[in-house]
Amino acid sequence: MPATQIRNAMTIDVEDYFQVSAFDAHIARSRWSQMDCRVEANVDRILRLMEEAGIKGTFFTLGWIAERYPGMVKRIAANGHELASHGYAHHRATELSAGEFLQDIRRSKALLEDISGQKVLGYRAPSFSIGKKNLWALDMLYDAGYRYSSSIYPIQHDHYGMPDAPRFAFYPNGRNGLLELPITTVRLMQRNLPSGGGGYFRLLPYAVSRWLLQRVNTEDRQPGIFYFHPWEIDPGQPRVPGLCIKTRFRHYVNLHRTEARIKALTRDFRWDRMDNIFLVKN
Ligand SMILES: [Zn+2]
Repeated sequence: MPATQIRNAMTIDVEDYFQVSAFDAHIARSRWSQMDCRVEANVDRILRLMEEAGIKGTFFTLGWIAERYPGMVKRIAANGHELASHGYAHHRATELSAGEFLQDIRRSKALLEDISGQKVLGYRAPSFSIGKKNLWALDMLYDAGYRYSSSIYPIQHDHYGMPDAPRFAFYPNGRNGLLELPITTVRLMQRNLPSGGGGYFRLLPYAVSRWLLQRVNTEDRQPGIFYFHPWEIDPGQPRVPGLCIKTRFRHYVNLHRTEARIKALTRDFRWDRMDNIFLVKN
């Protein structure tokens, strides 16, 4: 039984195993179309799992994937989930000029809206690549029609993070601007511990992850935001050769345990879509 009635946001970053930023140097975007895609089968498993658990979530989907799997995008929408953008081709916001970024967020939004018939209000930057240096990106998202972003991760990490950002929903540029919804952290020993999914969820024992999220619900009395990727429930994915030990470990650790852990999460907590939890309906 869930410890509180607080609804947490279940979010999925819809991309395939070869599109993760850590593989940038190993698999060029020009090779993506020749890769063995597994995203559709994995998303269908997630849709079944969520249907069985009776929960709705938000799918931050790459434009590149939506173009190739429009049927999958339609199934996500038909199952009552929220579609949101994860950009077009998984370029970090920090890699793009302002003009390129604007083009990317407009293109991915239009694509998802055309296919699904749903309005797309949410955006998550690839690799949480919005932080101190490019907060202008948030105004641009608002101007492009987005109403929230989940792109700032208030932690210390070698590839991303803005450790001094607020831990819960905030308006970085005033109430009339975009709402930022950070991935969940727990404040412990003067540090923000990542507590909302990704590699940490695969690495830590489930009981620890559950304790962290429960703490956010019971001590902070706030909704948590959890994320995972379709490739994280796919231990049979092809192995990418030539990775350094750290990247290999981060990507492959405990893939075989993740699906069961996500099922446990669906039993131990209440869940909903980002827009249902955080956006005031007019
Ligand atoms: Zn991503």
